[in-house]
Amino acid sequence: MKNGKRSNGLNTYLVHDIYSSQHNYGFINPSIFRGSTVLFPDAETMEKKKQSYTYGTHGTPTTDALCHAINLLEGAAKTILVPSGLAAVTVALLSILRTGDHLLITDSVYYPTRRFANNMLKNMGIEVEYYAPKVGSNIEKLFRHNTRVVFAESPASNTFEVQDIPAISAAAHKINAVVMMDNSWATSLYFRPLKHGVDISIHAATKYPSGHSDVLLGTISTTKKYAQLIDNAHRFLGMNVNGDDAYLILRGLRTMCVRLEHQQKTALALAFWLEEQQQVSHVLYPALKGNPGYKLWKRDFSGAAAIFSVVLKTGGRHEANIFLNNLKLFGLGYSWGGFESLAIHVNLSDRTVSKANYPGPILRLQIGIEDFDDLKADLKHALAAINMM
Ligand SMILES: *Cc1c(COP(=O)(O)O)cnc(C)c1O
Repeated sequence: MKNGKRSNGLNTYLVHDIYSSQHNYGFINPSIFRGSTVLFPDAETMEKKKQSYTYGTHGTPTTDALCHAINLLEGAAKTILVPSGLAAVTVALLSILRTGDHLLITDSVYYPTRRFANNMLKNMGIEVEYYAPKVGSNIEKLFRHNTRVVFAESPASNTFEVQDIPAISAAAHKINAVVMMDNSWATSLYFRPLKHGVDISIHAATKYPSGHSDVLLGTISTTKKYAQLIDNAHRFLGMNVNGDDAYLILRGLRTMCVRLEHQQKTALALAFWLEEQQQVSHVLYPALKGNPGYKLWKRDFSGAAAIFSVVLKTGGRHEANIFLNNLKLFGLGYSWGGFESLAIHVNLSDRTVSKANYPGPILRLQIGIEDFDDLKADLKHALAAINMM
């Protein structure tokens, strides 16, 4: 109880608070609005834009319902929706950076984020520099007079290093730099960036919020301080999403807690089992006690996503391909967060300041909602196939 009012947990929010049936004749989910033109009753209302909705690119009741839900989950003052997780990264960066600024990005970042920074941002005259994901408060040694944004992603894409987000944020705020974080892995259920000092929180809602591999969408959430800049970028760039996609994400959010709980349980059990297998050198998953990121993860996160990587003891791409080709339940495909298990080979050759020296190939596994025993048998079969070569 807070001030006599009960403050609900996030799971209860997802069921009861993210949408009020009062908005829709008692129906417990919003309607899907599609539209460009919105009519005004008279010229004066049109002149002053004195009504809630004015044009399709500026939002609809369906997109607003999703923004409201994400604001609650993130504890944000403002959320905007964009057509993909990658657009959430690019629009967030474009909203803040100006020519001549210095941008620090974690070396373990999602590859398309690096590609955007190395090409479009550098062409715009922005200085792009990478930092080691485990840098912590030492990030301050990399600060320059023009450092404007520190971009974090924790845990890292593919190798899952955990970053000390509170330490990085504290250092960045001393020089008034903006901290952005790609929080797609943990979702707002297991990590709340704005509560840990982050200014702008980014999600690929394509992943767990969707949960069904049938929609692409990105969200950007921020505090009051940057709300206007984020809103401007949204309007100026024309980065709106349609009602159908927003509806699918809102629908996915309702069950995100049970999906994550179930998938995380299976993932952890598989990770434990994989650690014991003779072909496996490391399992890169911060929820495992032996992982270098375990302590930070335990301190800051309240759960783990069901995606991790396995490093084999020997071999290269050829052995990785044998493993992948012998999987029957795990699909070979990109993305994650859906109901189905997936596997890919991981290539770290783009990293510049945090090259890891692993003995064999790295395979990333996204764990779906299938039965543990079936997934284990599939992995066992694929590992055994490598030995037979
Ligand atoms: C998938 C992903 C994205 C991009 O999401 P899309 O909707 O596929 O564009 C961004 N960041 C991370 C960490 C991701 O895994």
